[in-house]
Amino acid sequence: MSNATAIPAHGLPKEQVFAALEDIRKNDVPWRTGRAFAYVYDGGKEVEEVAKRAFNAFMTENGLDPTAFPSLLRFENDLVAMARAHLSGGPEVVGSFTSGGTESIILAVKTARDWARKTRGATDVEIIVPVTAHAAFHKAGAYLGVKVVTTPIDPVTMRADVAAMKAAINERTAMLVGSASGYAHGVVDPIAEIAGLAKERGILCHVDGCIGGFVLPYFKRFGADVPAFDFSVPGVTSMSMDLHKYALTPKGASVVLYANDDLRRHQFFACASWTGYTMVNTTIQSTKSGGPLAAAWAVMSFLGDEGYVKIMRGLYDAKNAIEAGIRAIPGLYVMGKPEMTLIGFTSDEIPIFPIADEMKKRGWLIQPQLAYGGSKENLHVTIQPSNVPHAEAFLSDLRASVEAVRKKGAPDGDAIAMARALAERLSGPEGEAMLPGLLDAMGIGSSGTVPAEMADTNALMNLLPRPVQERLLVHVVSRLFTPREVTK
Ligand SMILES: *Cc1c(COP(=O)(O)O)cnc(C)c1O
Repeated sequence: MSNATAIPAHGLPKEQVFAALEDIRKNDVPWRTGRAFAYVYDGGKEVEEVAKRAFNAFMTENGLDPTAFPSLLRFENDLVAMARAHLSGGPEVVGSFTSGGTESIILAVKTARDWARKTRGATDVEIIVPVTAHAAFHKAGAYLGVKVVTTPIDPVTMRADVAAMKAAINERTAMLVGSASGYAHGVVDPIAEIAGLAKERGILCHVDGCIGGFVLPYFKRFGADVPAFDFSVPGVTSMSMDLHKYALTPKGASVVLYANDDLRRHQFFACASWTGYTMVNTTIQSTKSGGPLAAAWAVMSFLGDEGYVKIMRGLYDAKNAIEAGIRAIPGLYVMGKPEMTLIGFTSDEIPIFPIADEMKKRGWLIQPQLAYGGSKENLHVTIQPSNVPHAEAFLSDLRASVEAVRKKGAPDGDAIAMARALAERLSGPEGEAMLPGLLDAMGIGSSGTVPAEMADTNALMNLLPRPVQERLLVHVVSRLFTPREVTK
């Protein structure tokens, strides 16, 4: 089937459409191999079956109006109740089901902004986040006109520096943020100190448990030394926890929770200033599919605590094995002491990005992370259930990849000098105009193609100032998201 250039004049037979779908997906990340440490949180065949059946059954129902579909209201209240019990919240804790961590965070920031406006008459609102906080806080700030003040981390533990947060508080500060855990290094911030500080200053404290919130209570039960991070900590006023990550539900599922309903009301949006139906939205979306909600309810009901304990136990053991295995590879080290199934590792001896390319050749997907704010460039693994049986194979290929990179030796001085010179020009006034040519040279083409080896690209990115990196990324996606007529 050719690339679409318009709505096809004639419809295709169903079978041909489904065949086309399968054909089009053939270059997607092969996550079913269990070798992808990213993107898909794979709960296995049965979980997928349950999720798909529930998703399909409620795909067409509309979450726009909770009185029209009491089923969806029930699912949401049940999920919020499960989430708050999981995060030590009492009956006064309330929340909302959202489409994902980003929406949960945008809503928490909106709530903080509107709370500060209402209760303190604030006009310019600021929030304080450690450099390890998820990019979604910056997105929220950009969307909502809230200034996001970043503070440093301890370069050894990778945890938030609470003294720096304290020093950054001013009369515009509405909220402090801590992560449990952060994404990059899987490390839990000193939540008790951050929340205590917020409480003392009479401001809000959000704990980003998008990725760790579901897992950490289980690891605690297994005896892991996880500091308190949830509603049991005085001063915590809101939390986000994704279900579409470690609760293994289909994408489009997260919750945002608040210490009480007075606070949550700042999140809601009602509008009577138009001629149509009476509108009140709890979240950003208005018309929304019941699919993700019903599927989340179904998966959590199907697995139950017992089912999750089994899965989390496997993750816990795999995380410990992989962490110890990485620490045992000469030349590599783990950044901080991850409490979560997320590990950032790097090297002071060999370039780190080529290891990701070597691993890719061996069928593994791991993520490069650029240097920022006291976090050196590194590689990241998100260990998810289908990786668990492959921990030993992963480590043995990682050892081989490190050896391969070591054998190749350090990049020669000329290449480094050239990259630096290019980075300098890109950062200068003619930089923006150079970007299209640069993307051509990098092999980043239309129709979603990126080169197989990314080490040089990542190394160059790593040299660029942040605003230039961001401009470059925008150019990349502009290019990817452009329909082109392909002549075959
Ligand atoms: C994934 C993640 C988010 C954002 O969640 P999305 O579901 O991708 O929007 C926020 N915070 C942390 C710590 C995360 O890992």
